[in-house]
Amino acid sequence: MPQDITKVALVTGAARGIGLATARRFLAEGWQVALLDIDVVTLAAAIAEIGKPEATLALPCDVSDPAALEAAFAALTARFGRLNALVNNAGTAVFKPLLETTFDEWNRVLAVNLTGPFLTTQLAAPLMADGGGGAIVNITSISGLRASTLRVAYGTSKAALAHLTKQQAAELASLGIRVNAVAPGPVDTAMAKAVHSPEIRADYRDAIPLARYGLEEELAASIFFLCSAQASYITGQTLAVDGGFDAVGIGLA
Ligand code: NAD
Repeated sequence: MPQDITKVALVTGAARGIGLATARRFLAEGWQVALLDIDVVTLAAAIAEIGKPEATLALPCDVSDPAALEAAFAALTARFGRLNALVNNAGTAVFKPLLETTFDEWNRVLAVNLTGPFLTTQLAAPLMADGGGGAIVNITSISGLRASTLRVAYGTSKAALAHLTKQQAAELASLGIRVNAVAPGPVDTAMAKAVHSPEIRADYRDAIPLARYGLEEELAASIFFLCSAQASYITGQTLAVDGGFDAVGIGLA
């Protein structure tokens, strides 16, 4: 596309945490950003705090709801008319043993973390292709790279999302769309505060060579890189942004 047209990114789960940091990074780079989230109140507060109404669009939506997503994409198309990057960041976590995870918990985690990115991609790809291509980044997790206790639904959803990333890369390359994943290590967001017990925090401290949690901005930088022209020959990959956790091979309890 011509360089003088402002690029547009859609970030899901953008009301807080890694998603909000990613939306802020795109805005700092001069992009326009649609921020999609199920949490209407937090989303409105985030957009007000950003304070760039000319460059932002709020899309209150549940990524696992096909009809709501269609309406969100209609609003995005009406406002911006194009899409250059999609970040499938919205996620939910249940940390429970396999034998205690309920049918509803399993289904909800899979619906948000795996079906959501499947649905958004079906809507985003034609719009991106109309503009000559684009980039998609799926946010997986180190919990999808390694099996560990308490993460049966969450880890399985993220491992499947890593494979969906390869499927998307294979099928969308001909449309000029690259698809990659970022697998964060622990980042001290609201999600981590909710599911990381003191024992889990101690395990991570011992298992991460850089010996600390990641920062939201460090994840945003990697996500932006994979959406940028700097990554023009990278597709179908998962980049672990994890302080060396996956490279070292120490498992969590
Ligand atoms: P967070 O809980 O702070 O933020 C997630 C956002 O997604 C929230 O604003 C929430 O409202 C939104 N969301 C949840 N379900 C949604 C749905 N159905 N539809 C639309 N929006 C929805 O989480 P975070 O820590 O910033 O995590 C962002 C992503 O990074 C997630 O996919 C998560 O699995 C992944 N991740 C996080 C960590 C970590 O330690 N924080 C580690 C590895 C991977």
